[in-house]
Amino acid sequence: MREQTPHQKIALVTGANKGIGRAAAEQLTSLGMTVLIGARDPQRGEEAAASIRAAGGDAHAVTLDVTDPTTVEGVARHVEERFGHLDVLINNAGITGSGQVSPEDAHDQVPSTVDLDMVRAVFETNVFGVITVTNAMLPLLRRSPVPRIVNVSSHAASLTIFSDPNGPMATLLPSAAYSPSKTALTALTVQYANELRKDGILVNAAAPGFVDTESNNHSGFLTTEQGAAILVHLAIVSADGPTAGFFSEEGPVPW
Ligand code: NAP
Repeated sequence: MREQTPHQKIALVTGANKGIGRAAAEQLTSLGMTVLIGARDPQRGEEAAASIRAAGGDAHAVTLDVTDPTTVEGVARHVEERFGHLDVLINNAGITGSGQVSPEDAHDQVPSTVDLDMVRAVFETNVFGVITVTNAMLPLLRRSPVPRIVNVSSHAASLTIFSDPNGPMATLLPSAAYSPSKTALTALTVQYANELRKDGILVNAAAPGFVDTESNNHSGFLTTEQGAAILVHLAIVSADGPTAGFFSEEGPVPW
């Protein structure tokens, strides 16, 4: 009788060398998955992977810059040759465009004076990079019995929240770059979900909350572990779970 090898779940997290992506990678390994740490800097990626391995997790660094299709194709080839399939893709890599300035201080994002090159750079990473990575990984995801895609968006993507002059974001400076890029990402999430629903690939957007990371100069109040929780929940959602949704740990986020 031929022995059945149990299906080993493989996950790829982009921008996983630090912050929320790294915490998500740690949590996925603790669930027994093999996790590929996508990092644009090979050394930073290897350091993160080695520290997860030292804690008992199965993590491997892959060099991946979401704005560089050559690296993305290289990762797809590597996954194909080494594992033959991919179960979870977390599109986490993202930039604010304002360095480590927290959102309320990002004067350089104010629409009437914004530098269009900065807007382009933010969209290149936060939106176009997600298309590049997702399309390269889809053939591998199609070979999974439980394929899941999680796009890391933000409450800053919510048009409902931002258009309320008395809402919780009303005190933030207006943004022509980061916030619209995350709105585009949630819109893209719905379009991918609609295309892939018939194939059983569930695609959702996650809002981690305001998390203490370098991206906001550590002004966030949630830990990276807390911020990563919704990414992990959506990465392992059951077959009858949601697709085309936008969720935080508290539940659905208004579009
Ligand atoms: P972070 O600590 O700055 O981490 C961002 C990660 O993305 C880093 O690993 C960074 O790599 C990587 N990255 C940036 N550009 C990349 C590229 N072109 N290719 C590959 N990787 C790239 O920030 P974070 O707060 O954890 O952010 C993670 C995600 O959560 C982002 O999408 C962010 O927009 C989102 N988010 C964060 C918050 C928050 O409060 N922190 C709230 C809502 C949403 P390097 O180390 O090489 O720079």
